[in-house]
Amino acid sequence: MSNEPKQRRILIVDDQQEIHDTFERIFTEDHSEDSALTDFESRFLGEIAGTDESIDQGRLDPKYELQHATSGEQAIEIVRQSVKDDCPFAVAFVDMRMPQGLDGMETTEQLWTIDPNLQTVICTAYSDHIWENVLQRLGHNDRLLLLKKPFESDEARQLALALSEKGRISAAQKRKVLDLGREVERRRRAEESMREMAHRDALTQLPNRPYLIEKLTRLVNCHASERIPQDAVLFLDLDNFKIINDSLGHDAGDDLLNQVALRLKECVREHDTASRVSEEGETVRLGGDEFVVLLERLEDTQDAIAVAERIVTRVSEPFQLGDRLVNVGTSVGIAFIDHHVRDAHEALRNADTAMYRAKNSGKGTFAVFDKTMHEDIVARMEIENQLRRAISEEKFQLNYQPIVDLQAGVIQGVEVLIRWNSDDGRAVSPSIFVPMIEEIGLISQVGEWVLETSMRDFAELISRIPEQYGRDIYLGVNVSRRQLSDPFFSQRLDEILERTGFDRQRLKLEMNESSDTRGSEQALDTMLDLHASGIGIQIDDFGKGRSSLTCFQAYPIETVKIDRSFTASIATDHSHGVITQAIVQLAHHLNARIVAEGVESADQLESLRTWGCDSAQGYLFAPPLTCEALGKLLEDPLQSEGIRMLRQQARPVAVE
Ligand code: C2E
Ligand code: CA
Ligand code: CA
Repeated sequence: MSNEPKQRRILIVDDQQEIHDTFERIFTEDHSEDSALTDFESRFLGEIAGTDESIDQGRLDPKYELQHATSGEQAIEIVRQSVKDDCPFAVAFVDMRMPQGLDGMETTEQLWTIDPNLQTVICTAYSDHIWENVLQRLGHNDRLLLLKKPFESDEARQLALALSEKGRISAAQKRKVLDLGREVERRRRAEESMREMAHRDALTQLPNRPYLIEKLTRLVNCHASERIPQDAVLFLDLDNFKIINDSLGHDAGDDLLNQVALRLKECVREHDTASRVSEEGETVRLGGDEFVVLLERLEDTQDAIAVAERIVTRVSEPFQLGDRLVNVGTSVGIAFIDHHVRDAHEALRNADTAMYRAKNSGKGTFAVFDKTMHEDIVARMEIENQLRRAISEEKFQLNYQPIVDLQAGVIQGVEVLIRWNSDDGRAVSPSIFVPMIEEIGLISQVGEWVLETSMRDFAELISRIPEQYGRDIYLGVNVSRRQLSDPFFSQRLDEILERTGFDRQRLKLEMNESSDTRGSEQALDTMLDLHASGIGIQIDDFGKGRSSLTCFQAYPIETVKIDRSFTASIATDHSHGVITQAIVQLAHHLNARIVAEGVESADQLESLRTWGCDSAQGYLFAPPLTCEALGKLLEDPLQSEGIRMLRQQARPVAVE
């Protein structure tokens, strides 16, 4: 609003001096007694302003500043200057007929190209250019009026007033639009910078997962039809990040992530995207050490491999964290984006899958995603879907495998083992589907179903058979570490015990000494709780993988189960024999019992007995059985080959 000119500028273009004089008189003399015009002016301005009161004096009696041009050419110069000086004319009165140089219409045409807002009045005394001609030439528009000579001074003043007012309003409007435009732009920028912030990882300042997904989505859409050059997604995580984070602290972990981010940026080109993607925890695995690099417009697929190699090499160089040098490695999964890829998540998943393949084939390397990996995933997803359905419909069966006391040759307990058939009727091993249930987060639900169902069925079975066969037999149930990490596990177990009326002294929980230490404190608390309440705790799978003798000190253990892979070699591998003996002694020293799993042969049985192993389980005694078959075996234990052997070797046993 501020730069509205104080005086309204009028340009007179005419080759005759008298006309200029006339205009001068009309616009500079006092016309306040001229009532007709004043009346017109007040009515005209009143309509525009809305109310009579709001008309300010300047607008009711505007001041005009006249400029004079005696030819079209001169007028053009003057208008050009006025535009340059940002004090444009409100109105130009242009004579139609100027014999030398440009005529009125040509002049007007040119003036409009310089100042498109210029309101123009063409003055004509001749009939050679009638209005139609003018319109034809200059086009219909609202910037043009025609004034016939000779004209009354009122006419000229009315035109000047109306046109200049119109120009003023439209200029004000334009300024408003301009201001609005600026405001819109300002807000757009503010929004953009907010978006930018929302799209950055707060720690490393790299683009984050939402940003990456957005960008990937765009890329994937481009690939709906085949696209060359190629784009690739590189997925990586750090090999020792957890250890560093846990041992050196989170600040060191953050420092490391920042340094990795810098190195990643060094390894890629300007238009590639290195991002950190972990915070949403969209994959099942959580952790802050996952990075994704997006390589766009690759000339050659080999280029992606070259970048992956560069990243592997660069990240394997030591990092300076505080005053230490730390070695961290990475494995990289590469997935190309082609028209098979349906969405951004699939592209990421493919790269993630390839990364896992890389990891499993030895750390510090890369792998390229291929179709077979894809098929593995599809198969796995199919199983996962079926499994979800099975969980909601409780379509599992339970088998029971006897555990035999090697001294007495009697069944002292059973282990309940879950069974599931996929839709094609084939039995899927629990070693495959139990970890899947854990991964999809439903292990508590399924685990509790196993607990409740086995307690009920087993209690029912025991109540059915004659008392002398089954009074003291315990029920062993596998529980996964994740179940024990649930702070409400004990409470819900109590509820199950209550509902089923099962004697808690006859329940033993088997848990494996896994390498997964997540939630281990909670798990330990739970175990102490359970132990205090009289439930036995068994360590499963001892001797497999990472389990160590240290677990004897950490947990309140009643029984240690030697893993079947270990049992398999005791009779043949001398060193295993020595170790087994040591384990047995140590366990006994700590008042724990030893159960050997997977006993299949007489030789194994013989060795175990000699070394003082307390109990055994395995095909030599019985495979996992249905509840009914178990009932029969309990009533007639000599069906079991292993039990027969024990009884033949041992002194005659008192019971049965
Ligand atoms: P596990 O606890 O070590 O169970 C013993 C496994 O050894 C069972 O495999 C059993 O069928 C098998 N087995 C028994 N005797 C022999 C033998 O003489 N030779 C050989 N080679 N194997 C024998 P299964 O039933 O396939 O179970 C595999 C694993 O799945 C179990 O290993 C356990 O870790 C897990 N699992 C089974 N049921 C459940 C459950 O209800 N909950 C949880 N959390 N895990 C379960
Ligand atoms: Ca077990
Ligand atoms: Ca085991």
